[in-house]
Amino acid sequence: TEKYEKGLEKTRKTFSSRMNELFANFRTVDEDFFEDLEEVLIESDVGFEVTMEITEALRQEVKLKNAKNKNDVQQVIIEKMVDIYEESESGDRSIQLNKDGLTIILFVGVNGVGKTTTIAKMAHQYIDEGKKVVLAAGDTFRAGAIEQLEVWGERVGATVVSGKAGGDPASVVFDAVKRAKDENADILIVDTAGRLQNKVNLMKELEKMKRIISREVPDGPHEVLLVLDATTGQNAMIQARQFKETTDVTGIVLTKLDGTAKGGIVLAIRKELGIPVKYVGLGENMDDLEEFNPNEFVFGLFS
Ligand code: GDP
Repeated sequence: TEKYEKGLEKTRKTFSSRMNELFANFRTVDEDFFEDLEEVLIESDVGFEVTMEITEALRQEVKLKNAKNKNDVQQVIIEKMVDIYEESESGDRSIQLNKDGLTIILFVGVNGVGKTTTIAKMAHQYIDEGKKVVLAAGDTFRAGAIEQLEVWGERVGATVVSGKAGGDPASVVFDAVKRAKDENADILIVDTAGRLQNKVNLMKELEKMKRIISREVPDGPHEVLLVLDATTGQNAMIQARQFKETTDVTGIVLTKLDGTAKGGIVLAIRKELGIPVKYVGLGENMDDLEEFNPNEFVFGLFS
């Protein structure tokens, strides 16, 4: 879509100009070519494993003589990138909605990654579809987090349930679930504090929230979405590993893809962590959140 094209402009420009350079001098697939290709891939942050898998696939195809010219080679690279994404796909790519009642989505992630904005964007999408959305201000730790969510809630037309700053987030969650049920809401989105400095506390806090949720809504929470900032590159990978150790993350929202040339990180996350990227943030506006589509993504890189 147009949005992908715009949001991936930086990644595409860098990636495709490097690719074009590589192919401009293309004569044959030899060791020099593989070295240059590996460099381009690593620099796009697709990660070591993905790079090795792509070059290995290319070696096989060259051996089988299925990749003889420039176009064949490019084709193998594209196909392999899509394959890597789809074959390692375990969870469903889209959000798991509760068919008979309230769907509860828990958001985790460190400050500044775009968590609040993403919650607002998602609420906006659901409200646009005619769903009733409640937001829970479960980040009682960061100064200003509650007010920020209240402002967004007002703007997009979602009810916001909040407590005192510094209060127990679990009690906010309890109130929010009750409120969502009373109002017959379709979706409850819970904001949480992302304090990785204190992993034990974070773990306990998240467990407590999940316990309260599942007591009130047996299958809940239906999703635990980790928000990562694509512009932070390898830092995002480190955060993802740490959150994965802290709680069961069911999906990733990768924000600020529009602000980086290193969009290849989508593939690294998928391959190295086994968690599907469910949404990508492609800008600061309310409409700049898209369901992730590996085909569109990879073709977007090459177009
Ligand atoms: P939080 O601390 O994780 O809740 O982060 P915020 O939601 O407050 O976002 C931090 C900054 O990132 C804000 O200025 C947002 O406008 C910006 N932001 C969030 N998502 C995106 C995105 O997809 N693209 C761009 N360019 N900016 C984003």
